[in-house]
Amino acid sequence: MTSSYKPIILKALLHNVKNSKGIHKNNIILIPIENIVEYFFKFNYALMKRYRLQQLNNRKSNVVIYKIIDKFYGNESGLKTPKKIASKALKKTRNLLFRHVLFLLRADAHIYDFFTEDQNKMDLPSQIKNEREFQELLRKTNSEIKDITYLGINRDIHNFMLRQAPILESALLALLVQFLEKVNTVPNLSQKLLVATEEYHFQRNIPEGEKQRLFEYQQDICFYCGKKVDPQQEKMQADHFIPYTYIFESQIWNIVGACPQCNLKKSNRITQETYLDKIVSRNRDPAFSAQFFKPYDQSESSIKALNILLENLYMSCRIYFKSIDL
Ligand SMILES: [Zn+2]
Repeated sequence: MTSSYKPIILKALLHNVKNSKGIHKNNIILIPIENIVEYFFKFNYALMKRYRLQQLNNRKSNVVIYKIIDKFYGNESGLKTPKKIASKALKKTRNLLFRHVLFLLRADAHIYDFFTEDQNKMDLPSQIKNEREFQELLRKTNSEIKDITYLGINRDIHNFMLRQAPILESALLALLVQFLEKVNTVPNLSQKLLVATEEYHFQRNIPEGEKQRLFEYQQDICFYCGKKVDPQQEKMQADHFIPYTYIFESQIWNIVGACPQCNLKKSNRITQETYLDKIVSRNRDPAFSAQFFKPYDQSESSIKALNILLENLYMSCRIYFKSIDL
């Protein structure tokens, strides 16, 4: 595997199958090619812009899809994927996929054929090995590529994908993680891939009641600066010790109460190690664990395991993300 293109295309197909996006025609289910192209674009958009994951090709330069995204969305912050993608960007992506992926993948996997807008199967060679063959095909077939409207999947294969969706999804994610880890050291890569298409949501907010109990436990003293927060004057805030966007973790062992000033100053960054020691001993405090951890997490060995996880995540985030000394 020299790029992530194939697993992402298969993920797009699976997504369409799972959400019944296909048109049933006799024994074939037709998936609109534009759905695949759009999914492919958005997925890569999230990898590149939101999570800053590198995807390098054989020549160690960024993959072509990143160049397309950069050309059209270079100025966007990337926190949210655009709802509607520019049609020119999609057209470029479509060309890229036909040139380098869709024919090859069809030859590898034998799971789809190409269909026209009239829902007729097209007679196209099974494998295009390189750019030259692709151009030749364009000449011979009178640029039929632009007429391809659907990927048609046989009903048996469609049903298999539907029944085995969870394990196929996991297998594709495993392939992607394996590929991306060659050039990225970011923690929780698999969770990032899960949320990349916004199909999954992790709980970011902490329940109000739990927050209040946490502030009480801290006696309204800021975890960072030690200032007492006067509830008449200002409001204590719940802070993700390791920022949420780095690890998608809102469990209480990663949450502290902070004054508005410290919370604002820290923002989306990692603090110095003094505070790691502080939160680790807080998690160990019996008065804390008895009140905040679930019964099965209250044993000494469970708390130790949670703290080891916290320390490991902290260390890798410290290397990878922006830090601040409070
Ligand atoms: Zn403070």
